[in-house]
Amino acid sequence: MSLLKVTGLSKSFGGVRAVDDVSFELAPGELLALIGPNGAGKSTTFNMVNGQLRADSGSIQLDAQNLVGLAPREIWRRGVSRTFQIAETFASLTVVENVQMALLSSDRKLFSMWRRAADHRRDDALALLDQVNMKTQADRPCSELAYGDVKRVELAIAMASKPKLLLMDEPTAGMAPKERNELMALTKSLVTQNAVAVLFTEHSMDVVFAYADRMIVLARGRLIAQGKPSDVRDDPQVQAVYFGTGKTFEAAHA
Ligand code: ADP
Ligand code: MG
Repeated sequence: MSLLKVTGLSKSFGGVRAVDDVSFELAPGELLALIGPNGAGKSTTFNMVNGQLRADSGSIQLDAQNLVGLAPREIWRRGVSRTFQIAETFASLTVVENVQMALLSSDRKLFSMWRRAADHRRDDALALLDQVNMKTQADRPCSELAYGDVKRVELAIAMASKPKLLLMDEPTAGMAPKERNELMALTKSLVTQNAVAVLFTEHSMDVVFAYADRMIVLARGRLIAQGKPSDVRDDPQVQAVYFGTGKTFEAAHA
């Protein structure tokens, strides 16, 4: 029984078929990588799943319930979380305050209660930070953190709502290989412990091979291959997209 079932999903922008008849499934606790060259339709697919974009056609089901047409917050309430960039929102708050804000939001308390709720679930927030190895930095402002540490706090925030499905669009963008691997190893252990499924986009094939249970490959909006990373790598169409031109996978994304 799959957690997420996407069938015949399509979305056009003007004349561009950004996502064209894409179907895939995701099981509970599974890590599924979505790869493809720039402009392949990865972000558009994500944004339809989280409700920021509405599909032109096709269906998206979570636990056999339709998600198409629901507002992003309603989709989030049903168990679909995503990593947000803290930098844009609450950089002036401390690490633990950021996680407390996420817990508040998850408890559906009003934002205006923040002043009164300054100790809201601080212990729970610290426990979440402990899971991402950031407890010792709980009282530092997020604006002071190293990039890799910010990413770990973002992960704690995304986990605060106890999601069934976590969406990560390019979680390791801008990170050095060592940091990338640390973040993905942490993500994998966290989601495995909590039986959370993950759909993520990734440019580094090394990361995909090390951490994805399965992968799907998009090219010009179409799903051209899916399966275990080791099988997909040898698929002729994938070879043509990434390797047939003489480019490496990394170069194809440059
Ligand atoms: P990826 O994330 O794989 O790089 P995107 O989903 O961002 O690809 O984009 C897929 C295609 O849709 C591209 O051709 C892109 O230019 C186009 N596109 C994406 N978003 C929009 C938009 N809001 N308006 C117009 N075209 C868009
Ligand atoms: Mg994208």
